[in-house]
Amino acid sequence: MKHNYDYDVIAIGAGSGGLSVVERAVTYGQRCAVVERGKMGGTCVNVGCVPKKIMWFGANLAHSIDDAKSYGFDVNNNGFDWGKLVRKREAYIDGINHWYHGYLKDLGIDELTGNAHFIDPHTLEVDGKRYSANHIVISTGTVPTLPNIPGAEHAITSDGFFAMDRLPKQVAIVGSGYIAVELAGVLNSLGTHVTMYLRKSHVLGEFDSLLKTTLFDALQKSGITLKTNTQITHITQRNKQLDINDDQGGSQSGLDQVLFAVGRNPDHDDLDIDKSGVEVDRHGYIPCDLFQNTNQDHIFALGDITGRAPLTPVAIAAGRRLADRLYDGQADRHVDYKNIATVVFSHPPIGTVGLTEEEAKKAHGDAVTIYQTEFTAMYNSISDHSVPTAMKLVCLGESEVVIGCHVIGPGVDEMLQGFAVAIRMGATKKDFDDTIAIHPTSSEELVTMR
Ligand code: FAD
Ligand code: NDP
Repeated sequence: MKHNYDYDVIAIGAGSGGLSVVERAVTYGQRCAVVERGKMGGTCVNVGCVPKKIMWFGANLAHSIDDAKSYGFDVNNNGFDWGKLVRKREAYIDGINHWYHGYLKDLGIDELTGNAHFIDPHTLEVDGKRYSANHIVISTGTVPTLPNIPGAEHAITSDGFFAMDRLPKQVAIVGSGYIAVELAGVLNSLGTHVTMYLRKSHVLGEFDSLLKTTLFDALQKSGITLKTNTQITHITQRNKQLDINDDQGGSQSGLDQVLFAVGRNPDHDDLDIDKSGVEVDRHGYIPCDLFQNTNQDHIFALGDITGRAPLTPVAIAAGRRLADRLYDGQADRHVDYKNIATVVFSHPPIGTVGLTEEEAKKAHGDAVTIYQTEFTAMYNSISDHSVPTAMKLVCLGESEVVIGCHVIGPGVDEMLQGFAVAIRMGATKKDFDDTIAIHPTSSEELVTMR
């Protein structure tokens, strides 16, 4: 039976995933709409990658001003205007938000503004109006987690970090993942006194051991206090400042902010998802196969809401490939979740792709060969600011196929993408070695490792 739906496809959420699927679907002649209750661009544009990277650039400049003295410049850092940087950052983001409205209009994609919730498996209600679609894509993302401890309401998450109107003097950051180490590095570089509370003894738990230990040491050397195996149990507010107690009997008082970066939760509370018939797992994520299919034939999930590789380029790739498959007959088009390269914008940054040494040895035992180097990059050799660089290649079998590449140090954020292409194509250690080095660079170490 042929149905007369309002749209061929509606995406719920105009973040990295939702926008990418309709942008591609419309090029195949589909009638598309995207629903958004907040700002265009979702987490990445508004409270994620984009504002974070601007703050990271600002933090790098603080180091460059110091380094300039070692390079013979008579410079002083006469102060830093947090408000100015934030205003410029937000103006840049407003420009992106604004651009999106015009871009969608030009493409012929309808923007539905408001909170979407299901009426039935083919119908959504947005701002009191109902819209039906043949296909519905759930791309509602995640929201930051706050723990259930007394006084948690006084704390902030990364969303609160981006809303701060002044540079705090003293901050406690709880967590050990991407966001915790990135924001700790930014604040510390810009002059905040930062204490990190790690519930275990490491940062970046899932990463290769070389990256974890090198970053841990670098954070400590940079002046950040790291409290390991310690959890905050209680927060109290006094005269606009915060006091905290931890489970090791310690306390800190006079904090300007307590920032939790302990992961994110799936966001579908307002969706009335039970009316869609879509299954949700016990953590609240929407399970889907590699083709983004949920348990409902016509409903798809992509991006962070799936709980798989929560990164912007993954959400974008999943959305585009879903449209290629559904509307362009590319039957096998889907994301390959192996060898996804990722960068942590810590100080110094980290780049990683493929298996860690620990994962490789667990899977392949003695067939794994490791090449590793640690050094000080030439730029840092004459600056007072000491920054480590470390690199590791994880190779498999007699032909030494490179199955993992892990790097930390200045510049690695821009170094990894090309190596990720080589690894995806199956490059061996010999291919790396046969590649003529670019000298003098840090990246040449990756093709000259013994
Ligand atoms: P989102 O971008 O979260 O979009 C979901 C959208 O759905 C939101 O705009 C929300 O308002 C909307 N929505 C939810 N429910 C409804 C509803 N019922 N009705 C209407 N609209 C709804 N990734 C990287 O690759 N590189 C980075 O450097 C990076 N940095 C990050 C830094 C931070 C601080 C954070 C928090 C994340 C970062 N990420 C980074 C991760 C990246 O932001 C996410 O992976 C990406 O945004 C996921 O896209 P998405 O489309 O799944 O969800
Ligand atoms: P992560 O999953 O990266 O890290 C959260 C970590 O915090 C956990 O792994 C855990 O580490 C620790 N933790 C969890 N609960 C607690 C607790 N109650 N107390 C103390 N520590 C706790 O989450 P983030 O929120 O940092 O980031 C979310 C995702 O967003 C990332 O996974 C990443 O995919 C994406 N992102 C990407 C960025 C990039 O590409 N540069 C930047 C920022 C985010 P442990 O178990 O070791 O204690």
